[in-house]
Amino acid sequence: MDAKQIREWDDKYVLHTYARAPFVFDRGQGTRLTDTEGKVYLDFVSGIAVNALGYGDEEVCSAIAEQAHKVIHTSNLYLTAPQSQLAKLLVDHSFADKVFFCNSGAEAVEAAIKFSRKYAQVHSGPDRIEFIAMSGAFHGRTMGALALTPRDHYQDPFVPLMPGARIAAFNDLDSVKALASDKTCAIIVEPVQGEGGVNPADPAFIQGLRALCDEIGALLIFDEVQCGLGRTGTLWAHEPYGVAPDLMTVAKPVAGGLPMGVTFLTDEVAAVIGPGDHASTFAGGAVVAAAGVKVVGRIADPEFLAHVRAMGARLEAGLLKLQARHNSITEVRGRGLIWGVQCDRPVKPVLDAALGQGLLLINAGPNVVRLIPPLVVDEADVDMALAVLDQAFAEAMQ
Ligand SMILES: *Cc1c(COP(=O)(O)O)cnc(C)c1O
Repeated sequence: MDAKQIREWDDKYVLHTYARAPFVFDRGQGTRLTDTEGKVYLDFVSGIAVNALGYGDEEVCSAIAEQAHKVIHTSNLYLTAPQSQLAKLLVDHSFADKVFFCNSGAEAVEAAIKFSRKYAQVHSGPDRIEFIAMSGAFHGRTMGALALTPRDHYQDPFVPLMPGARIAAFNDLDSVKALASDKTCAIIVEPVQGEGGVNPADPAFIQGLRALCDEIGALLIFDEVQCGLGRTGTLWAHEPYGVAPDLMTVAKPVAGGLPMGVTFLTDEVAAVIGPGDHASTFAGGAVVAAAGVKVVGRIADPEFLAHVRAMGARLEAGLLKLQARHNSITEVRGRGLIWGVQCDRPVKPVLDAALGQGLLLINAGPNVVRLIPPLVVDEADVDMALAVLDQAFAEAMQ
């Protein structure tokens, strides 16, 4: 099938919920993708912070192939080895005592919402139903997660959403305190906001949320669907803040590009959940879990995380140099290998110019260039991306 035919069929038969790039990808290796015309792209998008180990990773591909030949799906009525192995690995490397498997970020958030509601019902009765989320947050597109994703454009066509959603200002503890009460079931926050513009939370904000939750008897949920699992240079993005949540959601990178979400819980929360309270047919299937075991094992290695921090420092230094050279750049924000370049105008022309030079980039809101490369990028990749970005700014933003 040629690219033209693929585009025609997509346009005709696939629901129009995406604005797609014009080319068609054929294959990937390492940090590079190749389209059907043979053009090679350096990938600083990673399938939206998913492909942490890049493309064609030998260990991940072999684990998938081997498990597929053994058995692909059994449902959660029966046990297979990979799910238990992955659960132990995740618990051993986190604050959590238990994990619940699902199939996406939104589902992991939806599970955290349900577990929080049940915890509140059991411990406080029926009135504690409110969730506090932050301005600029992104938690997903299902009706519960969407209620906690305060963007009119996403929400308005689909009202009424889940009741009880309250929105405070990110990094403004007083605004959260103003909404908090004995009706607050849980507070949900991304330690580093992704879609909202790459905004790291202030330490005092995260620590204040922990103290506030303890004071009012609410649960604290960290959404690490995008920033978790090595992306920020520590295994979990919340580690540098020195506080742990009651629940955490993880998804994008966890199964090497196969769909998986994970909701992490303390025993205290897990104690209120029993058989039948929540479930998923596909969740934690043998193939995705086998991939997850390889991905999590590799990323949890301290040497791997040191590599992320080293490449992140190189990228940060380069981006700060770009800021000094280009007036349109007003701020550079991020940590590890998630960076946002805030501009004083829409960045679409920069993304297009970079694409022309073979560099894949994504925005985070109209005025922010987001850089979320595979965590296996090397120095040459980082330097090439910086050089292309420099030229793209020179071309597109003068
Ligand atoms: C992407 C994302 C989600 C939603 O994940 P899906 O897999 O697209 O449902 C939720 N929270 C955060 C922080 C995300 O970045």
